[in-house]
Order: sequence, then structure tokens, then C-alpha cells
Amino acid sequence: DKKVVLITGCSSGIGLSLAVRLASNPDKTFKVYATMRNLAKKERLLESVKGLHRDTLDILQMDVTGWQSILDARDRVVEKRVDILVCNAGVGLMGPLEVQSLDSMRQILEVNLLGTIQTIQAFLPDMKAQGKGRILVTGSMGGLHGLPFNEVYCASKFAIEGACESLAVLLQHFNIHVSLIECGPVNTDFLVNLQKAELGDASLQQVDTQTLGLYEKYLQHCGSVFQNAAQDTEDIVKVFLEAIQSPSPAFRYFTSGVMPPLAKLKITEPDGSRYISAMGKIIFSAEEQ
Ligand code: NAD
Repeated sequence: DKKVVLITGCSSGIGLSLAVRLASNPDKTFKVYATMRNLAKKERLLESVKGLHRDTLDILQMDVTGWQSILDARDRVVEKRVDILVCNAGVGLMGPLEVQSLDSMRQILEVNLLGTIQTIQAFLPDMKAQGKGRILVTGSMGGLHGLPFNEVYCASKFAIEGACESLAVLLQHFNIHVSLIECGPVNTDFLVNLQKAELGDASLQQVDTQTLGLYEKYLQHCGSVFQNAAQDTEDIVKVFLEAIQSPSPAFRYFTSGVMPPLAKLKITEPDGSRYISAMGKIIFSAEEQ
């Protein structure tokens, strides 16, 4: 029997690559339900799978912020079960905190936090009844340590850590494994899709000049990190596969192979001051180019 996988946020990025990889598995081990909010964006996925995958790939509409949309997608799973649920959909929000509207902050929390939790809620009862299951969640370094100008994004990703860890403790009694795939920067549409305050934006006129100067430095830092150190989605997909194929998967996987030094610093120096000064130096002390 094929393993039934349902993935959220498959119109681009990590979700798309994972769907393609699993659907094209040579021994056809997986039946993939690649879900996306907007089906008009399915062409990219279809082009990437190359050829027909009628028996291993199905594309479904699913907006993780809509309970009914999640239930409708669940009802369209022919096998009537999902063995591996991948909660991947997410968006970023970048800029000085004082310019973020309540609406945009709500939107981020709706997608990243409540969207992930709602998706899990919808599939959990069936997994419990099956007595087995896997829940994989795309995690972020922004869920392990704070990043300036990403306060609400980090809040949403920290919150996911708490939700998943709490669930993992319970779900070991149901043979359901929860795993976070912790990503650093990845080459995807993430930077294009995120809500970002641009330096010329009218909304930034109310912000003090010191903050704006630091924001400019942050944007340069962010740009160079993505240019120099971002992983490709294929690297991320390998780590997902490792978790999927492991008979007893870990709770956390780091896509770089090890916990990055800055994340470790937060644990080895629990009063937090070392992390805060180290991150500040890295981001704000960069030489002007
Ligand atoms: P991406 O923007 O290419 O993909 C995100 C996907 O989520 C998009 O296809 C988008 O349409 C979808 N999405 C957004 N709102 C949705 C909704 N309401 N319902 C369903 N789908 C929705 O970026 P990505 O990098 O592939 O992001 C995937 C995940 O990886 C996100 O959770 C992101 O936070 C996380 N992540 C990304 C990076 C990075 O550097 N790219 C780093 C760490 C973590």
C-alpha cells in the first residue's frame, strides 16, 4: 500500500519540491496530495513533475486559514486516511514593529500558527484511530531564536515549536510522530511572498531615523545571507525524506545537519545576553559596502 502524504503550501518553494520528489519516487511508494490555496498556481507544480503522475499525485485546493477548506480537502482524499501530514504553508512579515497593522499581524498568525494547528486538528482524530501517523512541520531558525524586524513572524514560529512539542509528548501514546524540520535561509519565493516594509514606504515615515538606519542594515544583512548561505529546496527535501523514512524519527531535524551555533548559544547561555549581543553584532556591525 502506498503511503498517503498531504502537504500544505505546494504552489512554490519547499512544499512544491517535496511534492515533486515524493510523487516521482521510482518505486511509487507515495500518494501525494499537494494542496494549495490558489489552484490557479498549479502550473508550476505540474511542470516540475514532468510527465503524468496520475497514480501518485493529486492537487487539491486548501487554504489553511479556512476550516471548511481544510475539511473539503480532507474529504477528497480517496484513501480516506493520511499517513504523513506535512504542515508547510507559511508567510513572513518584515519591518519595524511599530508600522505593522493589527490586520497584517493577524494574517501572519492566522496562516503560520492557527493554520498549522487547524490542519493538525483536522487530521488528528483519524491518525489516532489508525494508531499511527506522521506529522511533519516546516520549522524555522526564527522559531528558535529572535530576529530583529521579524518579531511577529518569530512569534508565530516560536509558537509552533510550543504547539508541536506539547503534541509530541501526548502523541507518543498513539504511535504518531511529530517532527520539525528546522530550516535556515532557503532559496524559495519566501522573500517575494512575504509582507515587507520597503525603505521608501509612506508607512516608514513615522519611524525614527535610528530604527530606519538599523532596518537598512538588517535588509542588507538579510540579502547577503540569502545570497551566500541559502540552501536549495532539494537539500531541505532530503531532510524531510530522512524523517519520513526513519522508523523512529527525531522531534527536531536541522537542515544544515547540526544545530546552528547561534541557536546553540541561546541554550548554552540561558540568560540570553550572549545570543542577543552576538546576533546584534552579526546583523548591525557589518561594514558598509
Ligand atoms: P514560499 O513562499 O515559496 O512557500 C510558502 C507557500 O505557502 C506558498 O506556496 C504560499 O502560497 C503558501 N501559503 C501561504 N498562505 C497560505 C494559506 N493561507 N493556505 C495555504 N497555503 C498558503 O516559501 P517557502 O520558503 O517554501 O516556505 C515554506 C515554509 O518554510 C514556510 O512555513 C516558511 O515559514 C518556512 N521557512 C522558510 C525559510 C526560507 O528561508 N525560505 C526559512 C525557514 C522556514
